[in-house]
Amino acid sequence: MKIFCLFSILLLIMPHLSLADGFERERNQMVRTQIQARGVSDKATLDAMRNVPRHLYVPFAQRRNAYQDRPLPIGYGQTISQPYIVAYMTEIIQPRPDHKVLEIGTGSGYQAAVLAEIVDQVYTIEIVRPLGAQAREKLNAQYNNVHVKIADGYHGWEEHAPFDAIVVTAAAEYIPPPLVEQLKAGGRMIIPVGSPFQMQHLMLVEKHEDGRITTRSLMPVRFVPFERAD
Ligand code: SAH
Repeated sequence: MKIFCLFSILLLIMPHLSLADGFERERNQMVRTQIQARGVSDKATLDAMRNVPRHLYVPFAQRRNAYQDRPLPIGYGQTISQPYIVAYMTEIIQPRPDHKVLEIGTGSGYQAAVLAEIVDQVYTIEIVRPLGAQAREKLNAQYNNVHVKIADGYHGWEEHAPFDAIVVTAAAEYIPPPLVEQLKAGGRMIIPVGSPFQMQHLMLVEKHEDGRITTRSLMPVRFVPFERAD
């Protein structure tokens, strides 16, 4: 009888044991309704979006909004991108486990965390010092393959170049030439291009094996502006 009771209790609490951080259900729903429903299908990307606790990358007061279908403010006039955009940008660079990826615009650290779930090494640069410092602390606690630098990302990260892929999460007026330079042959860069008050386009930049560069506009977007250090 005792054993039977114990067994029933175990059965009762088992589903809850898997709800480790209390947000799994919201996260799974986010992936299903916002991301898969809009056509993202890369398994590694979907798994990463299911794994990373997005609520830990938003300000405490925003936690209950963390899995909503929109960007959220993270302070200093910056935002964490909408979950779908993060997934879309991750899938489009075709991330592989042996890849080295550069991100410009660490912000909350969320996109870097999603990438860190999939690729070998993530190098990420943030221009706003307090944001970079905060993201570095969170990312270092979770991952040993993420490297955060506080600097103007326009110049890329020469010492670790070339990169298999580059993800830029702030809208530049034009594609910074140093970033194209630091992309591997066969590599992909995703970058929003356009001025802050006009329509911006998410552009896919491909460096082909023969060194040829092609660009393709994928969709209209709205990102915070790419800032320059004086
Ligand atoms: N990837 C982030 C999105 C943050 S918004 C996330 O997942 O939360 C874009 C970020 O780019 C902002 O934090 C902004 O400060 C930063 N940024 C803007 N211009 C930059 C530059 N030249 N170099 C590095 N970071 C820059």
